[in-house]
Amino acid sequence: ARKKIIAGNWKMNMTPSQAVALVNELKPLVETEEADVVFCVPAIDIIPAMEAAKGSNIVIGAENMYYEEKGAYTGEIAPDMLTDAGVKYVIIGHSERREYFKETDEDVNKKVLKAFEHDITPIICCGETLAQREQGVTMDFVRMQIKIAFQNVTADQAKTAVIAYEPIWAIGTGKTATTEQAQEVCAGIRACIGEIYDDATAQAIRIQYGGSVNPATAPELFAQPDIDGGLVGGASLKPDFGKIVNWK
Ligand code: 13P
Repeated sequence: ARKKIIAGNWKMNMTPSQAVALVNELKPLVETEEADVVFCVPAIDIIPAMEAAKGSNIVIGAENMYYEEKGAYTGEIAPDMLTDAGVKYVIIGHSERREYFKETDEDVNKKVLKAFEHDITPIICCGETLAQREQGVTMDFVRMQIKIAFQNVTADQAKTAVIAYEPIWAIGTGKTATTEQAQEVCAGIRACIGEIYDDATAQAIRIQYGGSVNPATAPELFAQPDIDGGLVGGASLKPDFGKIVNWK
């Protein structure tokens, strides 16, 4: 059975001192053995958050990473910088990075390959717009995102990856996808991984749902056969995150 993975995505929130306070506040609330608990935080918060999380079950991740090793890329964060700080997970290709920072599927693929090269687990984001859902092309679009993201990724690497299915229309809108919608696409993503690799890889990979996850919607979502946890934005900045992590 796949272990659930519940990750917070803090996005562009929390100064370093606020990060320490939030980790200290949530630490006792997110204790669980049922799930891996990851806080993906802004780069400048990684080291103080990691200090604050010591001795707890919280694992600190990053929200982004560049695909080059080092050099003249002003403002970017290199994979070595993350591993040296002890980072084990990085969100790749969030829809906000695709929209505001023009990340392409090819960029996402390069970042995913680079993360694996450095033994950082990528949390690979995908998901359709409202227009795409209404046009009935959700699964075609998400399958394309997945196929490009996983180009040249080996089966052994893919087995350890995390995919986050986040319908763009459900992010930050308070409009959670229905359990049926979320399960349907997550199952389709697993089938796609099965086609690219094999059944063992499809059964091993963990697929999260993201988009307005809250304590009320989490239990039903996480009970679905193909939903292995969540990527949580707004609710990860509040005690609500403790309830989501302890959804059972
Ligand atoms: P919300 O939970 O705030 O809708 O954000 C979801 C998300 O984008 C997580 O990456």
